[in-house]
Amino acid sequence: MFKKVLIANRGEIAVRITNTLQQMGIAAVAVHSEPDRWGLHVRRADEAYALDGETAADTYLRIDRIIDIAKSCGADAIHPGYGFLSENAEFAQACSDAGIVFIGPSPDVIRKMGDKMIAKTTLAEAGVPVVPGYWDEGHADVATLEKEAERIGYPVLVKAAAGGGGKGMRIAKDVKELRSGIDIARRESASAFGDDRVFLEKYVTSPRHVEFQVFGDSVGNAVHMFERECSIQRRYQKIIEESPSPALSPKLREEMGAAAVQAAQALGYSGAGTVEFILDASGAFYFLEVNTRLQVEHPITEMRLQLDLVRLQLEVAAGMPLPFEQADLNPCGHAFECRIYAEDATRGFLPSVGAIRHFDAPVGANIRLDSGVQAGDEVSVYYDPMLAKLAVWGQTREEALARMAWALRRFVVTGVTTNIAFMAAVLADPAFVRGVYDTHFLDSFRADGPAELPDEVLVAAAMLGREKKSTVRGAQSEAQTSTPSPWRDAGHWRSA
Ligand code: ADP
Ligand code: ADP
Ligand code: MG
Repeated sequence: MFKKVLIANRGEIAVRITNTLQQMGIAAVAVHSEPDRWGLHVRRADEAYALDGETAADTYLRIDRIIDIAKSCGADAIHPGYGFLSENAEFAQACSDAGIVFIGPSPDVIRKMGDKMIAKTTLAEAGVPVVPGYWDEGHADVATLEKEAERIGYPVLVKAAAGGGGKGMRIAKDVKELRSGIDIARRESASAFGDDRVFLEKYVTSPRHVEFQVFGDSVGNAVHMFERECSIQRRYQKIIEESPSPALSPKLREEMGAAAVQAAQALGYSGAGTVEFILDASGAFYFLEVNTRLQVEHPITEMRLQLDLVRLQLEVAAGMPLPFEQADLNPCGHAFECRIYAEDATRGFLPSVGAIRHFDAPVGANIRLDSGVQAGDEVSVYYDPMLAKLAVWGQTREEALARMAWALRRFVVTGVTTNIAFMAAVLADPAFVRGVYDTHFLDSFRADGPAELPDEVLVAAAMLGREKKSTVRGAQSEAQTSTPSPWRDAGHWRSA
């Protein structure tokens, strides 16, 4: 096993990886940008090195600097987390060239799956159902794309071959929207990924996003670890996930699981990966993409299977075979995850920055918090504003839902605006409670009035409101005459 592992990431995922490394007796090395100098992932690490600069491009995306640090500190391996360099084939190759183990699949698999068109071609050849559409080299002229869109039938989705994180995607209902969609998707993808190739997909109406965790090893074994339902999305990005999916029958689960393993086997996949599918209202499912890394929402899989996926990643990367077969994996109960963001749901999910004053998280049996911050930490403008992930487990969906509702009510963050109250409102929605929802759920979601917070939280929040005003303005009289706004500080969500 490795002695020292560098984590090329920040925030909650760097902390989460550090935890497993330390439990395994492996030294955890952090790297950090200037704004992250005092970050939690740095405080928790055994060693930390600076990446000079503030932006992601100058720091967490600097392949040369990160490899230099890994070499000079004697790290055996690099864990890339998610985002940043995790799906960068050039980085995986640079690690191997430097004699450092990259914790993830081979550069070749990353490269293939990083291009959505090659991924679709590869998996279609392996017999996995893919969304009907049109893809070639990605340089087709507008006239060809118009003709193909007509053939596929509107609405269609214009997608960037290099896309990710919901970027470079546009829906087109007709030819006019197609023309502008192609334009916008090309531009967005060129600026985000340096690649303007686009393709067309049939736009599946009322779809659910259901993905399967897969795991492979270097001796040819591959298993799936069941599904995660990720249809609660804003801007094509997940914010609440659950497992199992309320939409799958045992038969459908088996078929989709088999397709996911087929995909992993066809790729000779090693390590952790996620095969994403879109499921239509009739129960037909289509492959969307493979994420060749640890997924944000992996904790709900860990809770149902009592596994540590980071430990497994390390073992597989060190050449060990998977310690189980498909038949040994029996998930238990139900799990939910909520992504806690510093953002304002009443203002188009606008990120909120500043110092976190209070960070009072719920604890208890079957509640898990993966946090990248503590009270006193600063949320900067430079990176994704996800602060933490709150996950719960229950014997049944009802039990897990009630636990999550309680945990959200108990979770008090002040200083920045968060989506906590917004998520509590989503969880209380009758359709969500019944498990009947698709990826458009949030488009039409309107909460009526405040989600209920317990009295002690309201009192505490009101006190904070008062305290803040009197310290900031130093005017006692003003603090008394103006109404404190616990809702604003506690992240109250109200429909716009
Ligand atoms: P998951 O698919 O694991 O649920 P997301 O799609 O939400 O995760 O993305 C995980 C993280 O990585 C987010 O912080 C997102 O902003 C970032 N991300 C995903 N893809 C890319 C990409 N191609 N380039 C830059 N950042 C990305
Ligand atoms: P990314 O790499 O940005 O994660 P995906 O291809 O995984 O891109 O798609 C992200 C989300 O966009 C999906 O979870 C789903 O909500 C929506 N989506 C993608 N493809 C389709 C489609 N063909 N029809 C309807 N919705 C889609
Ligand atoms: Mg995706």
